[in-house]
Amino acid sequence: MQFIDLAAQQKRIRKDIDERIAAVLDSGQYIMGKNIAQLEEQLAQYTGTRHAIGCSSGTDALLLALMAYGVGPGDAILTTPFTFIATAEVIALLGATPVFVDIDSKTYNICPQCLKKALHALALKDDSKHPLPESAKSWPIKPRGIIAVDLFGLPADYEAIEKIAAESGLFLIEDAAQSFGGTFKGRQAGSFGQIGCTSFFPAKPLGCYGDGGACFTDDDELADVMRSILVHGKGEDKYANVRIGINGRLDTIQAAVLQSKMTLFPEEVVLRQQKAQNYKKLLGNEKRLVLQTVPEGFTSVWAQYCIMAQDNATREKIMAHLKTKGIPTAIYYPTPLHQQEAFGYLKYKQGDFAVSENCASRIFAVPMHPYITDEDQKLIASAILEALNS
Ligand SMILES: *Cc1c(COP(=O)(O)O)cnc(C)c1O
Repeated sequence: MQFIDLAAQQKRIRKDIDERIAAVLDSGQYIMGKNIAQLEEQLAQYTGTRHAIGCSSGTDALLLALMAYGVGPGDAILTTPFTFIATAEVIALLGATPVFVDIDSKTYNICPQCLKKALHALALKDDSKHPLPESAKSWPIKPRGIIAVDLFGLPADYEAIEKIAAESGLFLIEDAAQSFGGTFKGRQAGSFGQIGCTSFFPAKPLGCYGDGGACFTDDDELADVMRSILVHGKGEDKYANVRIGINGRLDTIQAAVLQSKMTLFPEEVVLRQQKAQNYKKLLGNEKRLVLQTVPEGFTSVWAQYCIMAQDNATREKIMAHLKTKGIPTAIYYPTPLHQQEAFGYLKYKQGDFAVSENCASRIFAVPMHPYITDEDQKLIASAILEALNS
């Protein structure tokens, strides 16, 4: 059994992908060109944003967004510690300081109440109100923005977060790396905040056959700045450089792959939701397991299907039992970012973000993709229940 079966998808569109790649090879245009422009238009239409900007990865999408705001030393960017390293890595890479805020225990997304507390503590430089990084106390850092993450495909609580950001004069960036295809109140993931960032890493809901990503925005000026940063800070002319940028372009061949995958994507989103519904039917009544809550008004694209066991020992027992049955599992994420060695310099302590730490010790992910069969899902569910009852 595959954790994510990309081969099943490829079988459906292999001929189309071959033709589209061949067309790029024939065109000789391997950088930018019409595939990129067409894809960007399609992505903008899908997310309902004015601009979609293809780029080289989800990580670079986040970097472009922060660079567009000129983020640097002295800036505090608030984000969740229960995410993939890239979310906070880009903050540190620019010399800014990640300020972590714990998650909601039901959705695993950043907790708006905690966000308010963290801003209050930052304003007072008082970590008795909310845990703060070392540098918040020793030298002035000023809150500039928030990166909210749509974990496992479920958009964060943007109603509350957009309000807090606006009230505090902060920009809001949506890390939609896992949520492209998810929605909140009819709005598509990628369209929240001032800039949405997604990833086309192969295992994401919309993946290419290499690295890729995109930024979304309704703001014409931010779009122009990001397009400039994307190509070494180019001005009107490619060799007139008006700012420091990066080489962050999306590959034309990857754009061709994504154009093909977009022909299936809307159908795959529905399939993912059906598969998640199946898991809920099979496991939702089991009191010893906790499933991610999708609140009213939200839809998830289920990038991962994660389950929480009662405790760490039970998780290990379940995962070991599934392994004997040939069922792959994974843990997203075993170590919250404030406990990662790379962020040791922030001097956060164990217990600072108790909900994230608790999740990290109990959560595990089971196979999830649009093509998983009902039989496999039943097999997975009964293996989990077997482990619980043994
Ligand atoms: C995958 C991921 C990223 C980074 O995307 P890449 O394309 O791998 O660079 C960033 N944030 C989150 C939440 C992700 O899951």
